[in-house]
Amino acid sequence: MNRFIDTRGTVRDPLTFCEVVVQGIAPGGGLFVPQEVPAISLDDICALASLTYAERAAFVYNAFDVDIEPLDVARIMAGAYGEQWDDPAIAPVVDLGDNTYVLELFHGPTSAFKDMALQCLPRVFEYASQKLREDGKLDHDHLILVATSGDTGKAALEGFAGREHVSICVFYPHGGVSDIQLRQMTTQQGGNVCVFGAYGDFDDCQTSVKRTFADEEFCAQLLKEHGLALSSANSINWGRLMPQIVYYMSGYAQMVASGAVQKGAPIDVCVPTGNFGNILAAYYAREMGTPINKLLCASNENNILTDFITTGVYDIRDRKLHLTPSPSMDILISSNLERQLFELTDRDATRIAGWMSELALTGHFEVDAATRARMQELYAADCVTNEECLAVIGKTFEEKGYLPDPHTAVAIEVARRLKGQNPVLVASTAHWAKFSPNVWRGLHGVSATEPLPAEVASLTGIELNRLIATQTGTKVPPNLEALETLPRRFTQVVDATKEGVETSVSAWLAG
Ligand SMILES: *Cc1c(COP(=O)(O)O)cnc(C)c1O
Repeated sequence: MNRFIDTRGTVRDPLTFCEVVVQGIAPGGGLFVPQEVPAISLDDICALASLTYAERAAFVYNAFDVDIEPLDVARIMAGAYGEQWDDPAIAPVVDLGDNTYVLELFHGPTSAFKDMALQCLPRVFEYASQKLREDGKLDHDHLILVATSGDTGKAALEGFAGREHVSICVFYPHGGVSDIQLRQMTTQQGGNVCVFGAYGDFDDCQTSVKRTFADEEFCAQLLKEHGLALSSANSINWGRLMPQIVYYMSGYAQMVASGAVQKGAPIDVCVPTGNFGNILAAYYAREMGTPINKLLCASNENNILTDFITTGVYDIRDRKLHLTPSPSMDILISSNLERQLFELTDRDATRIAGWMSELALTGHFEVDAATRARMQELYAADCVTNEECLAVIGKTFEEKGYLPDPHTAVAIEVARRLKGQNPVLVASTAHWAKFSPNVWRGLHGVSATEPLPAEVASLTGIELNRLIATQTGTKVPPNLEALETLPRRFTQVVDATKEGVETSVSAWLAG
């Protein structure tokens, strides 16, 4: 059975998969990685094309030799990648022409790529919690606490709703999420979920949630009165990363099956990157044998990763966060980069711990020349301005008849700039209908800094989606359409302080 170590070398006895899923992050702040990264043969990768997506996911999980019975893996994956997706292919590949292909990751229930992981992780979490309980290693349930700027909150709610042994509470900035995102969250079904607006911005929400995690008195009381420990579902959980490896293998297999690439010939992969989870999954797919040559890292105006990959220096001093049309990539600290550096240094936990503490203390670190060279063998990177992003949306629709969301547009542009001879597979991380105001700007040549015309600004998110769908002959996903008639369950707005978070959680649990 595979076991898991951590990137900072704190964990003495390696843990099982179920243990790391429930634990999330290692005690010293390090991230879990498997001791063994399995190799999968080219024949096996290509054979995935004839399986259902759920079977492909089960194959990869079994290859990792996790502590879940194969029958249970099959059941979990059938539930995770089933009827709730609006395309039976789950992650179809679309040919854009010019040797460019789009891997659509937005066909899940919330129309964002976070569903690829968050339809799977909560089912695994439920299984792991039950199993650890039976093994006498756990005697409590979990409450997932999430601060969200929009997308993650809804995908986590949808994934955890109705699961056993776990409930979820989400805080979003009041007035700081789009109309569609607000409706998505506040109409969420399920007895084990709750949602609060908070008077503050995303940073206030996140800081208050983090302070709640660190409040020992509150945590002790939660455990004593409700039998609950706090947990998080963010992208540093290995249980969120592993489902993402599947779609790169699946994507390659589909490209071979359709004749887009010859069996064994390499492709490049281009990923719109924020926390480095998605592109890291492509790296692991490559390590496991998928013929991927270059990993193209696409950023928006928050281009710290472009600079890091080109210089080897990670520096957040004097950097301000830019607001962009691709908000899910508006990030300064890319947490999953730590795992990549661990792998690039041949798993040198001492060096990783050093760089991470340097970053925390001084706001920067620089990798050695050998590590930088290895990184540059694997990666190429570029970044796109807000105006370029919007222009690419319009241009891609005009020239290819394909309407990308702003995150995907960033990657399409970087793929165009960096691509060589190989076919390039671009990860598409959201449906356009989740970001319709900026999609409208892109289609109509309105700058990112200009307000929308009054007749457009006055539309609800759902009305604007319909307008764009009519103008472009495209479709809005049924789940987003249905938001118009769903009843709003959650209307409460609370203080964006630790006290606000704790009081709301306690009141909800007291029922
Ligand atoms: C989360 C997200 C990203 C960034 O993915 P990472 O794994 O954090 O790099 C990109 N696009 C969308 C739409 C997202 O929701």
